[in-house]
Amino acid sequence: MSFYSVRKLMTGMIPGRLVRLFASRYVGGDSMEKAIAAADELYEKHGIESTIDLLGEEEKTKERVEWAMDKYYKKLEAIRERPYCTLSIKPGQTGFYVDPDLCMENIDKFAAACQQAGRGLTIDMEDTDLTDFTLAMYRKLKPKYTILGTVLQSRLFRTPEDVDSLKGLNANIRACIGIYNVPPDKAYQKKRDMKEALMKMIEKLFDDGHYVCVATHDMEYIDRARALIAEKKIPKDRYEFQMLMGVPRDNIQRELIEAGEKVRLYVPYALHWDDAIAYLRRRMAASPSITCLVLKNVVSKS
Ligand code: FAD
Repeated sequence: MSFYSVRKLMTGMIPGRLVRLFASRYVGGDSMEKAIAAADELYEKHGIESTIDLLGEEEKTKERVEWAMDKYYKKLEAIRERPYCTLSIKPGQTGFYVDPDLCMENIDKFAAACQQAGRGLTIDMEDTDLTDFTLAMYRKLKPKYTILGTVLQSRLFRTPEDVDSLKGLNANIRACIGIYNVPPDKAYQKKRDMKEALMKMIEKLFDDGHYVCVATHDMEYIDRARALIAEKKIPKDRYEFQMLMGVPRDNIQRELIEAGEKVRLYVPYALHWDDAIAYLRRRMAASPSITCLVLKNVVSKS
């Protein structure tokens, strides 16, 4: 059993109500309105932009997919007058598990609405059963919608080839290590290897002319990305820094904003607590620091 699996098992044993107690830091609220209010505050107080995400994955019925799409259109209406907000969308939530064609149709139509509203849309990258589909969809839709972005996970061995497959698209890529646990025949298992691969990916994306969202909280790699940007003289309109809401990185965010950089936080919200708890459990399995914080809370309650 891998270290990650053990941690996943252990975090699964922490009661849901304690995870929920902790959620407010990492989840923008239990309604769209609260998530938008969090995004407004981030922008008005700190100059930080947001990408808003409705938590929830693997919708398996047409009705649930329609429900999710309805929420996405309402979100788009809500951010129409908020140029500091973009949206993130998940194929697993918008039809992939019902019928991949339905998912393609839903995201195609929704991207058209985002393009018309002038708001950015990023297709999140989920587990590896969706990688081929997500990238094929991205390659198909990107030429139609300049506002469209997606995500590449540097832990996957396939990612350098995926970067090559985007040549000429002027893609908008969120470059991250990836949150999903992937077996050793398909992915790096050590964080350092994932992050070295992240640096190579960022460099290649710049060299190929894409827009890069540097998505990490690791100070060493934020600094290295900044050094690379300075060395290559990459203009400010070709990249931004992204972090997750709730991860304590206030100082670096302030420093980046003061240096004139664009910083965007991922602001998730949940309409069902089960979705928020699942999101947090995944973060806890991936990050010992968040598990420690929740466990500290457990101890102080007992
Ligand atoms: P880590 O080594 O995991 O983190 C570096 C340090 O940051 C840790 O030591 C810790 O101090 C701190 N830290 C990190 N996370 C937390 C936390 N939750 N709580 C407290 N401290 C923490 N992954 C996907 O697979 N698909 C996606 O679509 C996707 N979208 C993302 C969008 C954004 C904006 C960001 C920032 C990340 C996204 N991720 C996504 C997750 C990403 O792949 C990583 O799992 C996550 O960012 C942690 O990796 P890291 O590079 O920060 O390194």
